[in-house]
Amino acid sequence: MTIYRSRVPDQPVPKTNAYTFAVSNPNKTPDSYPVIVDAQTKQIITYGEWKRDTRRLATGLQRKLGFKRGDVLALFSFNQVDYSVALFAPLILGAITTTVNSAYTAQELAYQLKDAGASTMVAHPELLSVAIEGASMVGMPRERIFLFGTEAKDGFLPYSTLMPSLDQSREGQLVEVLEMDEQTAKTTTALICYSSGTTGKSKGVELSHTNVAVNAVQVVSFDGPVHPHDNVVLSVLPMYHLYSLQLHLVCGIYTGTQSIVLQKFNFEEFLRAIQEFKIKTLNLVPPQVLLMVKSPLVDQYDLSSVIQMNVGAAPISKELIEAILAKYSLAIRQAYGMSELSPGSHLGRYDKMVHGSAGLVLPNQEVRLVDPETGRDAAPGERGEIWVRGPNVMLGYRNNPEATRATIDPEGWLHTGDIGVVDAEENFFIVDRMKELIKYKGFQVAPAELEAILLTHAEILDTAVIGVDDPEQAIEVPLAFVVKSADSGLTAEQVVSFVSSKVAPHKKLRGGVRFIDAIPKSAAGKILRKDLRAVLQRDPQPV
Ligand code: AMP
Repeated sequence: MTIYRSRVPDQPVPKTNAYTFAVSNPNKTPDSYPVIVDAQTKQIITYGEWKRDTRRLATGLQRKLGFKRGDVLALFSFNQVDYSVALFAPLILGAITTTVNSAYTAQELAYQLKDAGASTMVAHPELLSVAIEGASMVGMPRERIFLFGTEAKDGFLPYSTLMPSLDQSREGQLVEVLEMDEQTAKTTTALICYSSGTTGKSKGVELSHTNVAVNAVQVVSFDGPVHPHDNVVLSVLPMYHLYSLQLHLVCGIYTGTQSIVLQKFNFEEFLRAIQEFKIKTLNLVPPQVLLMVKSPLVDQYDLSSVIQMNVGAAPISKELIEAILAKYSLAIRQAYGMSELSPGSHLGRYDKMVHGSAGLVLPNQEVRLVDPETGRDAAPGERGEIWVRGPNVMLGYRNNPEATRATIDPEGWLHTGDIGVVDAEENFFIVDRMKELIKYKGFQVAPAELEAILLTHAEILDTAVIGVDDPEQAIEVPLAFVVKSADSGLTAEQVVSFVSSKVAPHKKLRGGVRFIDAIPKSAAGKILRKDLRAVLQRDPQPV
C-alpha cells in the first residue's frame, strides 16, 4: 500500500467546540479590528462585535426559540456581512447550521429543510417569497422565518430581534459556549452542507466540530507569506458552499483576516472592490479566472494590490494558469477537495507553484491512489482514484447510512470519485472524474436529480445526464440524452425549458439535449456514462 502524507508536519487537532476554536485566534486580533466589511454598504463588523453578536444571537435562539443541542438553523441567503454570525451562533449551543444555495427553488429548499430537520430559517429579504413557499411545504411555522438585515418585511422580523439588547448583553448575561471534550467535538454535528457526492441526489454532509476546526488548521499551515493582519481577502464566492465557508468564515475568524464581502458575483463590482479595498488575496473558481484573463474591463481598474490567487472547486487548465501569470504579477495556487472533506485535502504553495497541479497533501491526512479496476495502489505516474483518510473526513451523510458506507470504507478511507496522478515531488494532478457529479462554475449539478425531473415528463421514457466540457469558458455543462415515446414530437428546446422551470439556474441543461434510441446500461441497470461520452466524441454535433 502506498500512502502519501504531507511534508508539513501534522498539526495539533482541535479538541473543542468549533466556535471556541474559531475565537482561540492565535494571532491575537484586537477587538477593534474590522474583520468583516461589506463592499457595498461599507458596514463593518469588528472582531469584538463578532464575538459579542454570535453570543447574543445564541442567547436569543436559546431563550426565545428554545434552541438546544442538535436543533438545526437553515441559512438561505446571498453573502452577507453577518452571515458568519448567524452561522456560528447555533454552534455555541451545540446546535447545527445548514447552509442553503441561494439560487434554490422552493422545492429544492423544502427538500433540504426537511432532510436536515431544520426548525428555523434566516433568509435574505429578496428570497423571502421562496423561503415562505419552501417552509410551508415542510410545515415550518411562519414565526420561525427570520431575515438578514435590519428591516422587517411583510410581518417577518430581522434575526437581530431575537438578540438581547446591548444593555442586556454584558458578560454574564449571555449564554456560555457549550464546551465539548475531544470525543464530543469529534462526534457532534456542527454543519450540514449539501452535496451529491459520488452518486445520486443531493445529500446532507454532516461535519463535526472537529472536522470544521481541523480543516482550518490544515489550510492555515500552508498559508502564504502575508501575515493575516496585513491581508485583505475578497469574499465573493457563495458562503453557503464549503470552499468559501471554510476559507472566509472559519479561517477568516480564526486568523483574524479581513474579509471584504460581495453579496453576489458581478464582474464590474468585483473589479471595483479589488481596486477600492486594495484586495491582496482572491479565492476564485476557474471561470472567474478566465474573465480576469479575457475581459477588457480589467484594464479600467487598478488590480495591482492582488498578490495571491487561490483557485478551486473545479478543474482549471495549466494554460489558464499560465495566462494569468503572464498578465498579472501574482502567485497562484490550486485547492482541491470536496464538501465531504470539510472541504480541503490538497493545496498548492504560493512559493512553489507547480502549474496544473491541484496541490500537495495537507497535513493530518493519509492519501492513496487506487486503481478502480484492480483495487491495487497505482504506481507513481499511473492514474488512480484519490482516497483520503483523516480527521477532516465527514461524519457521514445525514439519514443515509447506505450512501455513507458507499463513500467511506470500513478502514475510514473516503473514496473521492476523482482520478489523479502524482509526480515525484508528490504534487497531485486531477485528470478525470469517475463519479457522476457535474460542476458548473464550481456549483454542483447532480445528474440523478435532473434525470428524476426529466422522467416526470409524460413523453420521456428514459434519460441520462452527463457533463460536457466547454474549454472556451472554463466550465462544464449538463447535457441530457433522452429517449422519447414513439409518437412524441418533443423538441430539444422543450426539454431544456421543462427542466429550467423546475431547477435553480445553475442546473439548466446548458449542454443541450440529444435524442437517442436507448440509454446504454450495464447488466445491473447502471447507466454507462462512459459510452455516452463516447457517443459525443464520435458525433460532437447532433444532426
Ligand atoms: P464540492 O463538494 O462541491 O466541493 O465538489 C467537490 C468536487 O469538485 C471534487 O470531488 C472534484 O470533482 C471537483 N474539484 C474540486 N476542486 C478541484 C480541483 N482543484 N480540480 C479539479 N476538480 C476539483
